[in-house]
Amino acid sequence: MFIIYIDDRKEVLNLLWFKKSKDNFPIIKCSYMLGTIINLKVYGENAAKGIDKSLKRIQEIDDKMSVFKEDSEVSKINKNAGVCLQRVSKDTYYVLETSLKYSDMSKGAFDPTIRPLVDVWGFGRGVERVPNKEKIEYALKLVSYKEISLNKDEKSIGLNNKDQSIDLGAVAKGFAADETRDILLKNNVKSAVIDLGGNIFTLGSNLNGDPWRIGIQDPVKPTGTYMGIISVRNKSIVTSGNYERFFISRGKRYHHILDSKTGFPSENGVISVTIISDNSIDGDALSTCAYVMGLENGYKLIQSIPNVDAIFITGNKKIYITDGIKNNFKLVNEEYIVA
Ligand code: AMP
Ligand code: MG
Repeated sequence: MFIIYIDDRKEVLNLLWFKKSKDNFPIIKCSYMLGTIINLKVYGENAAKGIDKSLKRIQEIDDKMSVFKEDSEVSKINKNAGVCLQRVSKDTYYVLETSLKYSDMSKGAFDPTIRPLVDVWGFGRGVERVPNKEKIEYALKLVSYKEISLNKDEKSIGLNNKDQSIDLGAVAKGFAADETRDILLKNNVKSAVIDLGGNIFTLGSNLNGDPWRIGIQDPVKPTGTYMGIISVRNKSIVTSGNYERFFISRGKRYHHILDSKTGFPSENGVISVTIISDNSIDGDALSTCAYVMGLENGYKLIQSIPNVDAIFITGNKKIYITDGIKNNFKLVNEEYIVA
């Protein structure tokens, strides 16, 4: 998923023809954090200040929640698995507590204790390979969100069994996008697009006062090719897709969204789910939930949540859109069929 830059060209023309102030140009800053490319495009006189504060905050979230940083809070929880609870900041506590809400809602399709499984597949460490049966079976036994202990008063989190570990990779970007939005709002920014590796939040309207137009990535085409467009203001748009992280072994594609029942990448016909919601932490968790739950159960779940919508794409090029966003979605690739 990405932002369509047609609007930018219009802005440049406006500026040249009507001599608008420099505030009509956005400040755009890119960075690499949370294991992905961060792109902030912010308008207005407080743009630079808002961006600086936001990037610091995203770094702080990465430092607390990364599984790759030895002294992150998540790594400390993981090191103490089967031993004791670990005191954490209110950020990590909140993200884990929210994750557990979605684990319950999806009956474990979404599970933050997925880490041992992600690890045997080698995702995120650059050593991806198809693991042997024994490794998958051992890792699968460790995946159980019900084996997390929480102490709300102390803000501490623990894993009940040795070798268990937590992975917040499916929600941390969503939380960071919400925090960025809040910082920009506090700094009086009225218009921005926050893009944390495809976890997008659209703040306010574009320069013309129109909704932001967001392209939905064609899951089988090169990055940047969109198959549909939605127009939104103040919404989070998050996609989970099989094209985001994957490797190919013996001609078969293996992607990073794992089915906590089989131990293999989720295969149920769905190849991409986009969630449109008010908060990105919910969109991020729900895109992973719905991907693993599949079309029938995932669609039912999203329809049942107020102010949350979804666009499901299946491998046979069918698109399933929940009621709230149906009239907003504009198909631009006729190979796809809206079911
Ligand atoms: P996303 O791209 O938001 O769907 O998140 C995928 C990431 O979340 C993966 O890279 C893993 O770190 C983690 N993950 C994979 N499968 C699951 C799952 N079933 N439940 C929770 N997190 C998962
Ligand atoms: Mg997610």
